[in-house]
Amino acid sequence: AEEQLRQAQKVEALGQLTGGVAHDFNNLLTPIIGSLDLLVRKQIGSDRERRLISGALQSADRARTLVHRLLAFARRQPLQPTAIDLRELITGMADLISSTTGPQVKVVVDAPADLPPAQADHNQVEMALLNLAVNARDAMADGGTLRISAAKKSAEDGSSDVKPGVYLVVSVADTGVGMDADTVARAIEPFFSTKGIGQGTGLGLSMVHGLAQQLGGGIRIFSRPGVGTNVELWLPMASNTIRPAQHTAAASPLTHA
Ligand code: ADP
Repeated sequence: AEEQLRQAQKVEALGQLTGGVAHDFNNLLTPIIGSLDLLVRKQIGSDRERRLISGALQSADRARTLVHRLLAFARRQPLQPTAIDLRELITGMADLISSTTGPQVKVVVDAPADLPPAQADHNQVEMALLNLAVNARDAMADGGTLRISAAKKSAEDGSSDVKPGVYLVVSVADTGVGMDADTVARAIEPFFSTKGIGQGTGLGLSMVHGLAQQLGGGIRIFSRPGVGTNVELWLPMASNTIRPAQHTAAASPLTHA
């Protein structure tokens, strides 16, 4: 719990720092973009000079996009965990995810009808899944399959990332380029990205990880280069909505909630 608190405080501090820097940066970019825009529209100078100016404007525009993403990250809403139906949530997102990943990716959504509810923040889980879908899309430039599924799973003692107990797990699995072991190990680090400047912020997985931890769960990443990646979002069960029929004698008691 102490480690979790420290992690949450780190994410919080990071959010404040990021927000502050991004805000100042945004203010500095405004006159740069304004001036370059004016020069581009005036069509002054030689061909070469005009090319240089429009190149500078393009870079400044990319910087603005990046800064806006950082601001969105820093302005996260406070969590409002309630009992949520993950089957409904993921099937409801299927169209949005398909349009995010594009026509070259086949999207498959699947969850059992009797899935118990998770204790989580509906909007934040949607945001997290969208982030994971964007990563999957980027990993499957040549097409592939994105499978989003939800299931009840239990974490055993000794697993590093989540406490032992029963969880609702949303899995986002792609058939993309995959990651080597070093990349997997660093993937949740804030600002770690293998995508080019202006392409990735390196905040997606750290945000998803931070969210899962705040909710009392965690994430697990399985990946093989050339085969694909599966990112699992482990969320606690909603404590007051246990359906007794779904628990066999062997099921763990819900002591973690
Ligand atoms: P970003 O997507 O902005 O780079 P993330 O934190 O979401 O930031 O991801 C960090 C890095 O982890 C990515 O740059 C990429 O190298 C790797 N990664 C994340 N998801 C996947 C995936 N589905 N397939 C392959 N690599 C991935």
